[in-house]
Amino acid sequence: MPPVKTVKDYIRTIVDFPHEGIMFRDVTTLFADPRGFRMAVDQLLHPYSGLHFDKVVGLEARGFILGGAVAHQLSAGFVPIRKKGKLPGAVISEDYTLEYGEAVVEIHDDAIQPGERVLVVDDLLATGGTAEAGIKLVERLGGEIVGCAFIIDLPDLGGRKKLQDMGMDVHALCA
Ligand code: IMP
Repeated sequence: MPPVKTVKDYIRTIVDFPHEGIMFRDVTTLFADPRGFRMAVDQLLHPYSGLHFDKVVGLEARGFILGGAVAHQLSAGFVPIRKKGKLPGAVISEDYTLEYGEAVVEIHDDAIQPGERVLVVDDLLATGGTAEAGIKLVERLGGEIVGCAFIIDLPDLGGRKKLQDMGMDVHALCA
């Protein structure tokens, strides 16, 4: 019998993308595989079995693909957090630091109601800057973040610790 493939087996690494020295984890190969994608969504949901969520928040852009599937499974609504200038309605914004420079993410100011239970989803946790900004947006709207779920966690880059220090429950499928 061939060995059973894990989620990690479906992810490829592209060397020197988007710049020299970066080992980019490419999850498009995971998403493109019917078994891989189902396995990833099922495993993302695993710790939350039996819990109620009002909203799944996905971080642009791969968090939209995962978040939509996860929201459907949880019978929750889906809310996008987007880069600055992409959302059409009234927004609130958070700045955060990237490796080179600053970025801004936004959420519609009516996307989450106070007290709603939220799951934050993205493909990869590195320094945690993106997720931290997303968490702050949800919390500013009064959402209660029940968990933060990622396919990949690169723990050496400190993101897990950063989110845990904010009191977040972090779930990831592989490193
Ligand atoms: P952080 O803000 O440093 O935690 O970086 C995480 C964000 O950058 C997420 O939105 C990821 O989608 C993206 N990202 C960083 N590195 C990679 C990678 O190697 N593969 C896919 N996405 C990445």
